[in-house]
Amino acid sequence: MAKHDRAESAGHPNARLRQTGRQPSRPTPPECDYRELYIGLIRLHVLHHACQEPVYGFAMIEELRRHGYELSAGTLYPILHSLERKGLLVSVKERFGGAERRVYRATPAGYAALLAAKAKVRELFGELFEEENSEESSRP
Ligand SMILES: [Zn+2]
Repeated sequence: MAKHDRAESAGHPNARLRQTGRQPSRPTPPECDYRELYIGLIRLHVLHHACQEPVYGFAMIEELRRHGYELSAGTLYPILHSLERKGLLVSVKERFGGAERRVYRATPAGYAALLAAKAKVRELFGELFEEENSEESSRP
């Protein structure tokens, strides 16, 4: 993204003006710096799966990795705990072989929260991609 911006501004007539502007050009932050931006998506993702089936930490980390989110247990567990504190998930310890595992399920409040969030996501999605489509159609 930064590379693209730089290439664009280099050829731009106002490039010099922009460069002397207040904002210094910064390197693109590493992926993990976007975590704050993605955290709501990750939480919704967890809630979505907990509405479909019981989930547990390790499997959720794997699932999120499949979607391109690299989360450590140290990041995921606080998410599960806070969703449980808010009453959206409920957990029980279950025995798998010799080990115990904490399994999370959505509560009725969790289902309701997901439903409400879906409406918000749909709206945002529409706006994000509506813009993209109109940009495409306005190109010569
Ligand atoms: Zn998923």
